[in-house]
Amino acid sequence: MNIAHWLYQTARARPRVAAVKLGTALVCDYATLARRAQALSRQLGARGVGAGDRVALFAANCPEYLEILHACWWLGATVVPINYKLHPREAAWIIEDCGARLALTGAGEMGGLGLLPEGCTEIAIDSEAYRAAVTEKAALSAPPPQDAGAVAWLFYTSGTTGRPKGVMLSHGNLLAMAMAYTMDVDHIAPGDHSLYAAPMSHGAGLYALPFIRAGAAHVIPASGGFDPAEIIALAGDLGGLCFFAAPTMIKRLVTAAKAVGYRGEGIRTIVYGGGPMYGADIDEALAQFGPRFVQIYGQGETPMTITALPRDLVADDSHPDWRARRDSVGFAQAPVEVRILADDGTPLPPGKPGEIAVRGATVMLGYWNRPEATAETIVDGWLRTGDLGCLDADGFLTLTDRSKDVIISGGSNIYPREVEEALLLHPSVHEVSVIGSPDPEWGETVVAFVVAAPGASCDQPTLDDWCRSHIAGFKRPKRYVFTDALPKNSYGKVLKTELRQQLAPGR
Ligand code: AMP
Repeated sequence: MNIAHWLYQTARARPRVAAVKLGTALVCDYATLARRAQALSRQLGARGVGAGDRVALFAANCPEYLEILHACWWLGATVVPINYKLHPREAAWIIEDCGARLALTGAGEMGGLGLLPEGCTEIAIDSEAYRAAVTEKAALSAPPPQDAGAVAWLFYTSGTTGRPKGVMLSHGNLLAMAMAYTMDVDHIAPGDHSLYAAPMSHGAGLYALPFIRAGAAHVIPASGGFDPAEIIALAGDLGGLCFFAAPTMIKRLVTAAKAVGYRGEGIRTIVYGGGPMYGADIDEALAQFGPRFVQIYGQGETPMTITALPRDLVADDSHPDWRARRDSVGFAQAPVEVRILADDGTPLPPGKPGEIAVRGATVMLGYWNRPEATAETIVDGWLRTGDLGCLDADGFLTLTDRSKDVIISGGSNIYPREVEEALLLHPSVHEVSVIGSPDPEWGETVVAFVVAAPGASCDQPTLDDWCRSHIAGFKRPKRYVFTDALPKNSYGKVLKTELRQQLAPGR
């Protein structure tokens, strides 16, 4: 099956139903969305993009996002959506790594900065060339069939090694993920609005698929991102709003709602995940908005689909174990099995903590051009998540820790090594170690411990400027601690636990 077939079917069954809105303004119906996607696919083909080729998409959330995804699939190509918050240099690295033939960018920034890799052409979405490419008026015809194992989406996740890896998601993976949404997360009703308050290059965009299938409308906020006041206004104007939000976004939404006495009217469902939701925060959100929340736990390697905690169980406070259940991430979603593994890889019984492993139809094919990393991550058919957790006797999974050193700030993953490597390029930096520090608003913030090079001095503004030109803004340390030496063990490994203690209150 070709995942673009869902758009083709909805366009024929519900041609005049609203498909895309920018804020409250209608952009196009389903017939137009499908026609534009097909027209764009032909233009991409005319520019030499063929089945199996990679097409990069480096743009903020915009009304064109869905037609670009579908144009690639219509052609049998693989789309590579890149987080628009990345620095263009980081995007250039991804474009080169995946060997993209073509890059669609918001305003032609790759070529403009001289960062477009050789062999790759660029189309700016805000250009006349793009507008011409989507206007062809040919009759709609079915997208060509695809093997379920063909790569539909290359999802770049940051790696502990400092460089992101491309997770290969097949048409079959996306199908299984979308079906799990309707089985385990929520049903989609006519008149619902899928709102994109989080980057469409990630989970929020992947979740567009079940809404395409159902013929619901897709709403791009005029701000392009997450603005609590705008969401409250859109909920009132549109109704039936469903969206994915990181826990920190929910916290900000609840604070804004309290300030204006808003109780969630017009919001149908908020799916939360991507980072830990603290018990007090979900309690407060439920008290303000009522049972509008569903939790999911997933990762790029099995997108949005490891476990889910359904709406009724998030809200339940009558079961003897309700507190533990609300603080868990729920139970395995329909397409997958979940196991806990000991250090030696043997499965552990309920109640014993270990590494979470997943097997099933949503698990990636592997990492793009990284057979060793794939072999380390998928062992005997089981995906090693790198997360630590514990299953209870009823199948509820509680995350205990992350075995990787990842920092999750505002729902975005930041790998310390990436930040450390950028800082170490600065001539005045001798040694550096980056950790996450608990933060009530962002979950965690990035803190860098820096040892200056002999005879050199460094300061926060200099290093901040340096980071701005090397890494994405959200990865920049919010705080620097300048020190004479880093604490290390006898193997010379920096003791991050000691650094965390140094930041503990009272130290
Ligand atoms: P990504 O691959 O960027 O989607 O990040 C996935 C990681 O985010 C997971 O491996 C977890 O560490 C974390 N994560 C995702 N969902 C949840 C959740 N519901 N609760 C806690 N952490 C989560």
